[in-house]
Amino acid sequence: MRRKIVAGNWKMNLDAAASKELIDALQAQSLNPDVTVAVAPPFVHLGAAVAQTQNSKIGVVAQNMHQAPSGAFTGEVSASMLTSIGVHTTLLGHSERRAYFHETDALLAKKVDAALENGLDVIFCFGEELEERKSAIHFDVVTRQLTDGLFHLDAAQWKKIVLAYEPVWAIGTGETASPEQAQEMHAHIRSVLANQYDNELAQGVSVLYGGSVKPANASEIFSQPDVDGGLIGGASLNAADFAAIVNAF
Ligand code: PEP
Repeated sequence: MRRKIVAGNWKMNLDAAASKELIDALQAQSLNPDVTVAVAPPFVHLGAAVAQTQNSKIGVVAQNMHQAPSGAFTGEVSASMLTSIGVHTTLLGHSERRAYFHETDALLAKKVDAALENGLDVIFCFGEELEERKSAIHFDVVTRQLTDGLFHLDAAQWKKIVLAYEPVWAIGTGETASPEQAQEMHAHIRSVLANQYDNELAQGVSVLYGGSVKPANASEIFSQPDVDGGLIGGASLNAADFAAIVNAF
């Protein structure tokens, strides 16, 4: 059975005290035991977050990493640095990384390889922009992102991959894909995976939806058969809202 996952992407928010406070508040919530729950704080808080969540069900995920093992890459963080502080999963390919830091699918393929070589799991983010949806090329865009970013992997490596479909027009905008739009794309993603690999692999990969998920819309989105959870931005900064989303399954 596919894992149900809700992960909170904190982006560049919260100082050290606020990060600690939010994790404390989350740990005080009762969270659906069937859901894998994680938070992705900024790099500087990861070590403290790992220590703070040692005996809890909340996992700690990085928001990004560099593809090189080490070297003259000022300001960057490598995969082995993450594992050395107890972080075993990273987001890659978030639309803000793609848009503001020019991360291409070719670069992301290298990052994915570096993550897997170091034993990290990857939550791979992708999704079309508004213009691409309006031009009705959104299925092609998503197929290309998966192909260029991930289809060099073999079936065994896919056990370490979670997908997060995030239509760019729905991120931080308050506009959510309708449950039908989410389901339609998630079904497309599974059919592309089945074509490239096989149905067993396609049915085994958790595919999250991201884009303005809130307590009010989470259960409708999560009730879609091919939606296995969510990557949550804004609403993950509030413990009660994030817990309500986790408990929306
Ligand atoms: C995100 O950043 O991954 C995201 C989905 O943000 P929001 O929930 O705020 O739209």
